[in-house]
Amino acid sequence: MPTRSLNINDHRLELETGDITRQAVDAIANAANSALRGGGGVDGAIHRAAGPGLLDELVRRYPNGTPTGSAVETSGHRLAARWVLHAVGPVWQGGSHGEAEQLAGAYRACLGLCERLGARSVAFPAISMGIYGYPGDQGARIAVHTVAEHLRGETSLDLVRFVLFSDETRALFDAALDEEAR
Ligand code: ADP
Repeated sequence: MPTRSLNINDHRLELETGDITRQAVDAIANAANSALRGGGGVDGAIHRAAGPGLLDELVRRYPNGTPTGSAVETSGHRLAARWVLHAVGPVWQGGSHGEAEQLAGAYRACLGLCERLGARSVAFPAISMGIYGYPGDQGARIAVHTVAEHLRGETSLDLVRFVLFSDETRALFDAALDEEAR
């Protein structure tokens, strides 16, 4: 599927299908777990591509991990990206345990780190939408809406790109972008 984009105040929100570890952007976000000790899914792929220095840095700088709904930064090690933003999305527990606020919080925490670091481009995976079981339509809507709201304000970011690993997830983000552009 071709890349799609929406312009918001001269900032670009893009949807792409692919592997986030291959992105040449300033920062990539990781769907991490609260312990920050690596895991499966996109977390495992990012750790493999970045090399063992990534885990070493996480252990040294964040010995107690980070709470759900927050994010911390490391350098990108062997990745093309300069930084990795380790965001912790919620595990889906039916929707009445604050999951929506925590998911939006995970995206917002990454966007805040980008502003602090001066990142001009960032790529996100579909946080919580794999092993953590967040319903796809709702998860995509929160992701796109949270980023769009951020780009409507004051920001150093020129580009926010969602890099979706499957056509199925990509279709959910396409629908969410349609809704946001309306
Ligand atoms: P979570 O535990 O937050 O649900 P997962 O890693 O299980 O995190 O899944 C999050 C999303 O990342 C899923 O849509 C999954 O298909 C996707 N994903 C897995 N590997 C990659 C990758 N290399 N690049 C981009 N997305 C990926």
